[in-house]
Amino acid sequence: MRARHGLVLLGGIVIVVGVLLVAMRPVQAQSAIQIVSEEINVNFPYSVDFDLSAHSEESLITSIRLFWQAGPEDVFNVRVLDVVPAQTVSVAVPLNALFLDLPPFAQIAFRWQIRDEQGHELVTETRTVEYQDTRSDWRELDNEHFRMLWYGYDEAFAHELYQIVEDAYFRLETAFGVELERRPTVVIYPDRQVFAEFQMSVGNGYNVIGRYFPGHDITVNLVSPDMPRSVYAETLAHELSHLYSDNFYVGFTSLPLWLEEGLATYNEVTSRVDNLARVRQAASAGNLISFVDLPNAIRSPNIATTNLAYAEGATVFEYIIESWGQQGLSDFLGAFRRTSSADEAMSTVFDQGIVAFELGWRAWLGFPVAEVPQLLPTPTLRPFDFPTPVFMPPGGS
Ligand SMILES: [Zn+2]
Repeated sequence: MRARHGLVLLGGIVIVVGVLLVAMRPVQAQSAIQIVSEEINVNFPYSVDFDLSAHSEESLITSIRLFWQAGPEDVFNVRVLDVVPAQTVSVAVPLNALFLDLPPFAQIAFRWQIRDEQGHELVTETRTVEYQDTRSDWRELDNEHFRMLWYGYDEAFAHELYQIVEDAYFRLETAFGVELERRPTVVIYPDRQVFAEFQMSVGNGYNVIGRYFPGHDITVNLVSPDMPRSVYAETLAHELSHLYSDNFYVGFTSLPLWLEEGLATYNEVTSRVDNLARVRQAASAGNLISFVDLPNAIRSPNIATTNLAYAEGATVFEYIIESWGQQGLSDFLGAFRRTSSADEAMSTVFDQGIVAFELGWRAWLGFPVAEVPQLLPTPTLRPFDFPTPVFMPPGGS
């Protein structure tokens, strides 16, 4: 079940074409509408351009629609094109990659629907075009679980990166207890400038070095030669953890954000020692962020608070593994397919609510306390009870 699979190293240049021509296919003889030409041009990092010419033997073409889907979890979108009725019509459809927030190597599925005045209709089969970053000579290392795209490193270093991703993948598979249904793509850029180009388009800062793109099964990472190994190893594992988690919870609820980031941070592995030290230091100084405050702290504008929140979340998973083992972790993660409440998941799996859990975690850290802050109980609505209007003076309470 956990067998490792051989590397497939595609020799030479995998992707260099700037223009991808999707082969014209002969249309069924009975159709009155024919495709004359079709071209899909990947204009990275700006757009994917679809060009089509179609011809009707017997009538005037009156309608052309492009159906497209950006990523396997997207719905099919439709673009209705302006057509001046004619026997032969041509259309050009640019999809704006920046607006769609497409990661490099996103898979775009598409099909055409063409109709003429006499009611003939041609619907092409659904095909996929890859939004390739055509500026570099990408190479690929893959197995049946994931594929890694890279360029600009020597082979030995690429294999080192591949090993990091593979280890992270199998750690996640063990944690969640299931394999991913779709194979993720890990894209690695060697150059900060090139990596930053598409980051800028989505408003991310220069300091971002890894990103997971929900709905695309793609992480995009920067590994530059001047980085310490721990930095890129942790980034690759962290982003893959978000991807794994997002796939695991598709159609279900999800982890609360502080646990989601905690899990991703825990999966970095090499940061565990530092994180535990950071959390213990905060505990000894009486500065731990209580669990009830972690949902806000995790996106705090104060970077020290955010870092501590990430570190606390990571140690929560360490605590779970040490106390309840691998099965306890899988059960805990699985519980969030049924609830988004940490309190409920902890009660179900560990037989203790979030307050008892936090007390146990603090004791495990070596800094036991008698009590921790609690959320006020949610008021229960009783039928036939009408809310009393309350006047709040300006200036508030
Ligand atoms: Zn994260």
